[in-house]
Amino acid sequence: MTKNLHAMVITAHADDAEYGIAGTVTKWTREGKEVIYVVCTNGNKGSNDPEMKPERLAEIREQEQLAAAKLLGVNKVIFLRHEDQSLEDTPEFRKELASLIRTHRPEIVATSDPYRRYIWHRDHRITGQAVLDAVFPYARDRWAYPDLIEQGLEPHKVKEVLLWGAEEPNYFSDITDTFDIKMAALRCHHSQVGHFPRQWYDMLRQRYEKFAEGKGFKLAEAFYRAEIWW
Ligand SMILES: [Zn+2]
Repeated sequence: MTKNLHAMVITAHADDAEYGIAGTVTKWTREGKEVIYVVCTNGNKGSNDPEMKPERLAEIREQEQLAAAKLLGVNKVIFLRHEDQSLEDTPEFRKELASLIRTHRPEIVATSDPYRRYIWHRDHRITGQAVLDAVFPYARDRWAYPDLIEQGLEPHKVKEVLLWGAEEPNYFSDITDTFDIKMAALRCHHSQVGHFPRQWYDMLRQRYEKFAEGKGFKLAEAFYRAEIWW
């Protein structure tokens, strides 16, 4: 059994974590806290370039994610390699996520908010929902998976969940000192952001400035935060 991990960041795609939480992740890693990324899909549909084939794109996106993670000081990236745009909220997927939580035993689990309305990538919605269910009750309750107990995967209580993309965020993390590295990590995802105009940077900066309004710092990432005390 490994010692408790600080945070497990579970995303649908390579690059989601950089948009959602990379500034906060960098604060943690600078404090010497361990962080693991889990990327659920292979991201092989994330291009409209007719020259780019899905198999090649999947390989490129893993390399981009590894480069970004290295920059941020993330200790490990786990690729589940499910087909892009094809995630479903199945018992198998929930068990896969609960097994990872029981294996690595994070204090915090971060993912995309499944309850964002209207235009929201289906994979983000499904990942968020399956992760919340995996945290509670499936990772926590012993008899959710008797076979996991036989494999030595004891139950694990996650203390806190952070959801990015929340429409009603209740927690704002100061990323004033880590914004530059967050943006550098985002740029590692060249297949996704390489064609964006210069204004992209300014638009993103404005988004994080807005999150920080009235909070006493310049730039923030915004989350719905739920503490699990029972
Ligand atoms: Zn995504």
